[in-house]
Amino acid sequence: MNTDDYDVIVIGGGPGGSTAATFVAKAGYRVLLLEKEYFPRYQIGESLLPATIQGICSLLGVKEEIESAGFTPKRGGTFVWGKNREPWSFRFEKATNGVIPKAGALQVERSRFDDILLKNSRKNGVEVKEGVLVKEIIEENSRYAGVKYKDNSGETITATSRYIVDASGAKTNFHRCVGERVYSKFFNNVAIFGYFKGGKRLPAPHEGDTFSAAFEQGWIWHIPLTEELTSIGVVVDKETAKQIDDIDCAYEGFINACPAIKELLEPAQRMTDETYGKLRVLKDFSYNNTRFFHKDMILIGDAACFIDPVFSSGVHLSTYAGLLAARSINTALKGTIDKERCFIEFELRYRKEFGNFYNFLMAFYDVGQGQEDYFWAARKILNTEEKSNEAFARLITGFSTEGIGKAASTEEYFTLREGFGAVFKEHIINEAKSGISAQTPNQKTVHSTGIDMDQFMKGFTQEIVDLQLQAKLQQLGLSSDLLPASSAAITVSGDFLHWENRGVTNKSKDKKNGRELA
Ligand code: FAD
Repeated sequence: MNTDDYDVIVIGGGPGGSTAATFVAKAGYRVLLLEKEYFPRYQIGESLLPATIQGICSLLGVKEEIESAGFTPKRGGTFVWGKNREPWSFRFEKATNGVIPKAGALQVERSRFDDILLKNSRKNGVEVKEGVLVKEIIEENSRYAGVKYKDNSGETITATSRYIVDASGAKTNFHRCVGERVYSKFFNNVAIFGYFKGGKRLPAPHEGDTFSAAFEQGWIWHIPLTEELTSIGVVVDKETAKQIDDIDCAYEGFINACPAIKELLEPAQRMTDETYGKLRVLKDFSYNNTRFFHKDMILIGDAACFIDPVFSSGVHLSTYAGLLAARSINTALKGTIDKERCFIEFELRYRKEFGNFYNFLMAFYDVGQGQEDYFWAARKILNTEEKSNEAFARLITGFSTEGIGKAASTEEYFTLREGFGAVFKEHIINEAKSGISAQTPNQKTVHSTGIDMDQFMKGFTQEIVDLQLQAKLQQLGLSSDLLPASSAAITVSGDFLHWENRGVTNKSKDKKNGRELA
């Protein structure tokens, strides 16, 4: 008999934690979620992708609530990037190849967004405790069996479970129970961010876009959070950041050095309230853990990995990992697929998505600015120090798809990518005025090493589109059997909450057609 208090304990109530908890509770299991803060609480990561809103939020059952919460609609991104100083934009609608007609995303105040997701966990039966700090992971009989946490009265409580999900974000050390955190040298950046009121917006229809503008020392994001409130973040190199004496002065100086952003902020003033009034600084945010699961403990979201804020991938990766982790846990608890196999499936899919973003973002940085600017020169694939960062690159090379991840060594991995930025620019950026395209253009663009840009982009957008399709099918009460055929041995179950062996899916498909397989 199972004597554990819970089937799953989730550490952290951010989007990753609440997503995993809700999907496990939806499958009927007992979940305890422990969050050290009282929500709503501040968090960075305000620009979201359609996969989160149209996909995950829909599967969670909160899409309507999120869409009616008054967040700013985001239909794409606008960039001043590369040598050409002309702004260019892409639209999400185009990126889904017309499969999902209204593929919009949102710009959100994370305090409110995360609160909605956490309340939804409660509604779905998760036991949520706020204001409780997890202090320790308990190891018993060669597995992680539970946690010790400090409750609101200061008392230390022990809770045990079959599985532990660490969704505690970037700043805790629980990930060490599972593996080692390896940092990227390519994305070795520092972010300084604050808030303004009363700034201008890009002209329609781009007023809700994230606007990212490169300048000599890095790039700046401009996120229109509400009609009044704008999030402004400066991303610079670690070496540049080391030379800063006065952070407020430096922040102002960077904005002044970037005419496109400066112009939008001319009528604006810095916020002065407690939440948005202070400047915040973050560094060392691009990393990857050597393992994502070990001894019944699973890492998701920032606890596992993060790359770089330029393409708003953080919340997508954490909620996507929450869904994958929940499917693996639910299937392991149900006992239909071997436990180890379930978690390998989780890690493979998660790393593949992380690898896709890594490849995409590296190519994106490669075309940043002129070679003469230090920040951009240091981020040319050709020059990258990541070549000597064996551990980090191996984590990508072992798992990434589309032919470019199969190099045997890190040196080869980066050699393969030389000149990749230029091809990427030709294919993607030059096309982007009409939208990042997942369609096959008339003329095929192939990198000299044989990397086909269409395949590369399809790989990059596949999961983003697929998540939205899954949500659409679930909404219409249709089965996952209607998802495009996949070569994966393990596929998504009919209730979208488990994994199934491929044979099982085929059987149910054929049953539907009245043709029972042997
Ligand atoms: P978190 O959101 O960090 O949640 C973790 C939770 O765990 C917190 O609520 C915390 O209080 C709780 N916790 C921590 N320790 C404990 C403990 N011991 N016990 C109990 N609870 C605990 N992503 C985007 O999608 N879009 C963006 O525009 C974007 N911009 C970014 C800009 C910068 C500069 C950076 C660094 C990141 C950005 N991100 C962005 C990434 C995004 O912030 C994260 O990827 C995302 O918040 C991860 O969600 P999570 O649930 O994994 O962790």
